[in-house]
Amino acid sequence: MLQADGVVNALTIDFEDWYQGLEIPLDRWSGFEDRLERGARRTLEVFAGAGVRATFFVLGAAAERHPQLVREIVAAGHEVGTHGWSHTLIYNQEPGVFRAELERSIKLLQDLTGAPILGHRAPFFSITKRSLWALDFLRELGIRYDSSIYPVYNYRYGIEDAPRWPHTLAGEGPPLQEFPITTWKVMGRNLPIAGGAYFRIYPYALTRMGFRAVNAAGHPATFYLHPWELDPEHPRIPLPRRIATTHYANLKATEPRLRRLLRDFRFAPMKEVLGIA
Ligand SMILES: [Zn+2]
Repeated sequence: MLQADGVVNALTIDFEDWYQGLEIPLDRWSGFEDRLERGARRTLEVFAGAGVRATFFVLGAAAERHPQLVREIVAAGHEVGTHGWSHTLIYNQEPGVFRAELERSIKLLQDLTGAPILGHRAPFFSITKRSLWALDFLRELGIRYDSSIYPVYNYRYGIEDAPRWPHTLAGEGPPLQEFPITTWKVMGRNLPIAGGAYFRIYPYALTRMGFRAVNAAGHPATFYLHPWELDPEHPRIPLPRRIATTHYANLKATEPRLRRLLRDFRFAPMKEVLGIA
């Protein structure tokens, strides 16, 4: 066995329905089949079966439609964080609109959970060099940690030279920690290994090697999935090729791989990994 056995990683779910993260505006969402309950139940069952707890970054619009699911998440012992309200790329939003949506989401989630909301994950990991201003609003609204910065280059997200491990962000006001999305440095490049489409498209062994390397160096990794990735039968709709490729690829692999990952590594909610009370 590797020495990495002691490191506890952060298990996270970006909690939204299958059509909410496809760059389709919120005013068109009512035209799609609501499947959130299926994916959510499956996720909760797999986690309960493995005896693990996670952080669910809940989209405000999804919580408004399914308040009972948020209550079930809390009742199962998981942490609830915010994923904003409308799943818009932050760097395309007016700062005032971003702030208002974030505040609305936090308020709804606090009402549903009866607890302060401490964590934030941006839609599409869209805190980039163009939207660092968003971090000030997080502090102002009581967020204690963010997990949105992906130290890679991607057409939609990423700060390639950002720190790769959890750290406290510089800035005025209350302390704010960043838990970057995990990468594995291979031949000088940061390879994204933290979940989602990468988890489905790469062989499982690659994710496991990456996690082992990160943990062997003494660092916690973070892993993320969406409930719809555990609902492989959700509707097929025509999408731009680069979105369709990542969204629909190898969905049937998600659940068996997730079960293996939960056996191979230790996980906890993100606020516990960061030591936030
Ligand atoms: Zn999302």
